[in-house]
Amino acid sequence: MQRTCLNCGMNVSEATRDCPKCDNALNLQHDGSTITVDIAHQGERVPEALQRLQSEIHSAKHGTAMCIRFIVGSGVIRKEAILSLRDSEFRGDIRSFEIEPHNSGAILVRLK
Ligand SMILES: [Zn+2]
Repeated sequence: MQRTCLNCGMNVSEATRDCPKCDNALNLQHDGSTITVDIAHQGERVPEALQRLQSEIHSAKHGTAMCIRFIVGSGVIRKEAILSLRDSEFRGDIRSFEIEPHNSGAILVRLK
């Protein structure tokens, strides 16, 4: 797997932490974009929804997006997702998260 340094455009392997050309920290680079992922409206049970939440965060950390917007609905998935994200924030897996203003059925997760 390859990734591209957003600062200088050099192609490096996915495991590289700092760009060998411009010395930028690759895991902190982002393009300002937001990915939207619905984890609550295809009949997911809570464990499935939480697993999806964590795996999306894990794979997005290797990508270039700045945020993930999780659609969590208004039920128990939303409640458990908030608890799970609190853990992720504590562990440093994500930078922060917030309930989307004016839309309590979505949570914005800041990855980088
Ligand atoms: Zn670079």
